Amino acid sequence: VKFVYDFTEGNKDLKDLLGGKGANLAEMTNLGLPVPPGFTITTEACKVYLDSGEEPVALRDEVSAHLAALEKTMDKKLGQPDNPLLVSVRSGAKFSMPGMMDTVLNIGLSDKSVQGLAKQAGDERFAWDSYRRLIQMFGKTVLGVDGDLFEDALEEAKKAKKVAVDTELEAADLKKLVTKFKKIVKAEAGRDFPQDPREQMDLAIKAVFDSWNGERAKLYRRQERIPHDLGTAVNVCSMVFGNLGPDSGTGVAFTRDPASGHQGVYGDYLQNAQGEDVVAGIRNTVALGELERIDKKSYDQLMQIMETLENHYKDLCDIEFTIERGQLWMLQTRVGKRTAGAAFRIATQLVDQGLIDEAEALQRVNGAQLAQLMFPRFDEQAKVEQVGRGIAASPGAAVGKAVFDSYTAVKWSRSGEKVILIRRETNPDDLDGMIAAEGILTSRGGKTSHAAVVARGMGKTCVCGAEELEVDTKRRRMTVPGGHVVEEGDLVSIDGSSGKVYLGEVPVVPSPVVEYFEGRMHAGADDADELVEAVHRIMAFADRKRRLRVRANADNAEDALRARRFGAQGIGLCRTEHMFLGDRRELVERLILADTDVEREESLKQLLPLQKQDFVELFEAMDGLPVTVRLLDPPLHEFLPDITELSVRVALAESRKEPHENELRLLQAVHRLHEQNPMLGLRGVRLGLVIPGLFTMQVRAIAEAAAERRAAKGDPRAEIMIPLVGTVQELEIVRDEADHVVAEVEAATGTELKLAIGTMIELPRAALTAGQIAEAAEFFSFGTNDLTQTVWGFSRDDVEASFFTAYLEKGIFGVSPFETIDKDGVGSLVKAAAQAGRETRPDLKLGVCGEHGGDPESVHFFHEAGLDYVSCSPFRIPVARLEAGRAAS
Ligand code: PEP
Ligand code: MG
Repeated sequence: VKFVYDFTEGNKDLKDLLGGKGANLAEMTNLGLPVPPGFTITTEACKVYLDSGEEPVALRDEVSAHLAALEKTMDKKLGQPDNPLLVSVRSGAKFSMPGMMDTVLNIGLSDKSVQGLAKQAGDERFAWDSYRRLIQMFGKTVLGVDGDLFEDALEEAKKAKKVAVDTELEAADLKKLVTKFKKIVKAEAGRDFPQDPREQMDLAIKAVFDSWNGERAKLYRRQERIPHDLGTAVNVCSMVFGNLGPDSGTGVAFTRDPASGHQGVYGDYLQNAQGEDVVAGIRNTVALGELERIDKKSYDQLMQIMETLENHYKDLCDIEFTIERGQLWMLQTRVGKRTAGAAFRIATQLVDQGLIDEAEALQRVNGAQLAQLMFPRFDEQAKVEQVGRGIAASPGAAVGKAVFDSYTAVKWSRSGEKVILIRRETNPDDLDGMIAAEGILTSRGGKTSHAAVVARGMGKTCVCGAEELEVDTKRRRMTVPGGHVVEEGDLVSIDGSSGKVYLGEVPVVPSPVVEYFEGRMHAGADDADELVEAVHRIMAFADRKRRLRVRANADNAEDALRARRFGAQGIGLCRTEHMFLGDRRELVERLILADTDVEREESLKQLLPLQKQDFVELFEAMDGLPVTVRLLDPPLHEFLPDITELSVRVALAESRKEPHENELRLLQAVHRLHEQNPMLGLRGVRLGLVIPGLFTMQVRAIAEAAAERRAAKGDPRAEIMIPLVGTVQELEIVRDEADHVVAEVEAATGTELKLAIGTMIELPRAALTAGQIAEAAEFFSFGTNDLTQTVWGFSRDDVEASFFTAYLEKGIFGVSPFETIDKDGVGSLVKAAAQAGRETRPDLKLGVCGEHGGDPESVHFFHEAGLDYVSCSPFRIPVARLEAGRAAS
């Protein structure tokens, strides 16, 4: 195997091997764009190192060969005292990952070569500044020295000199600072700063490998569901300098606005600075448009390159560049992150420009983004007290208590508080706090600052660079213009779409996308918003492409109607237990307490018309579309009063010598029905089999409701579903009874009802004997909630609070299997059962109605497994439609 690739050898499709950064540097090199020469060490090398703790044997020689070639190209040698080649060492995984070691610049500088650099550049100050940066970055990221020690020393030097910014420090000051920095390294790392340039490079490469398993990197991967075994590549690139004077500088640019998708000139530029100054938001940048005035030649060239890149990648790209004494260099490009709204707009814009087709447009958006667009926004009519405005970095409306550090953000959010994390600027140490917060507010930094980039990636509301806010993290407070002080715990509201910051709690209103799905806003209307137009078109693409139908989990007419507006093609799960609550509880209680057949029949008779009416309404709301009604599932004790409460009531009545015969009877029933593990107890079909008349009453209600709707010229399409079946015998018995009742209703009403009868597959035994079960079922609906808990053997109600966090932290799960289908375990049972069922009955209808039916990744799995439909809660229907379309294209 080959572990090192020159930039001229790779291309953009080699991200697995070269990481995103390396692959794109190679692509730009081969497009003939000005990229400083260099090479990439592959993720394979990193994996060998992570697995064995040693770099692959061949790596050293390969690096030597590529370094020699680079030295030849550049006509300099790494760290050569009189004419040094300097390189940067940068991490670069397949997916961009904050929290990993990012960059060490100026490798190759030493006590000797710093002189050479000074001569080469004709600038002694510059050389010493570069050297102190190297020691600082190397000390912090490679040798693990606390970065604040260097920052403090730098501050001290500025104070001693009575200057405000680093650029005012002179060569002599920086020389002293270098001495100080070296002392810090020696004291903290227990070794000298390495003077051998090759040793610097090798240590930096190893540090990049190690950073893959840093705590923050691991946390980020879990959050983003990035596999832990990909490893990172390492890019070694010859240095170019943006800090060689006013004709030098560095910047970032987007080919379109990452917040709106509009074309134009977007980015930031910082004169006389190195890359990390911009990203860290340390000094204030100017808008990219200013570069035209500062350096027209480079500006024009940059515009040209951006056009080349956008046409080549057929997407929004973001770019890092440096200008060294009037010469433009491209340091990085990638398909840029964008807000959810911009993703939809850009996808349709690119279709209109003829750059991509509909299928590709669907790949440019995803369900998570759509879900984000369905969040509410702040009410524009509300009386608000705006106290500042920053940059709209990541959209959304967030309200919460002000906290000024990550630790408090995490602590408060764990105890159920909503918090807004307020910082002057964020850095990778704030990641946990950012995850815990509702939103992030910073007073410094631009659209490309750490806070902005990370928040956008997480889909979290963020306002950054709100400069009139004075954030004092030490005293945990923020002073707003006019002098009002926001203390820790005070409520603040931030709008990531407008950048506005408010005091107090601002009320929120629904999103336009929801208004559109609800039919209260129309695409094509004069005042329709651009975003709604884009969503409308993308949804149409998805609906044209998808094979999976999408149904709703709904058990009342209101939800059914909403689901229909959102595009549901029927109801995949009506949980009838929800019809047994409220004021009907008393009837249900009587049914449970019935001692005699007569008593039981009496209460069933009273329940029948109520149930029937529920179904009439539901069938009407879903007229013409299938409605799967599931017969009663949960254990009876769920309908009875709480055991402790009732015991207290009985005891009290006893002591007061009050009559309590009914309570006593109830208590006895509660005791009798109390189960240690009700999930595996008397529920589902078992209940139907032991409580005579219960299921038949429900079947009768369904059949009569259907007949009534038919008589009213409606088109009811009811399907009867039996829960928790483990063996075909259970199903056969219930089925016979049901067939009998349906026939009775058909005869009595003179209508042919054609009610399909099917079952849930939610127990492993059902899945394993699906071939037999299909004999008695016209459809299967996979209950992946119960199937997950029974296949794994853990209770869906208990485990998320007990050991899941530990499992997620240990990487046993990337995500809860109750959220995303466990493909290897539960998923393979689903596939096998679907296949076995269809072997018995080729026209068997297959669906899924567990929570997974609305989860993007799971929808793709069900598409591949060949199911006919997914069923999910009404609000997730648009997401399921979109993902089903993406899965099919
Ligand atoms: C299931 O188990 O997946 C299911 C849909 O049923 P319930 O969640 O009601 O148990
Ligand atoms: Mg279930």
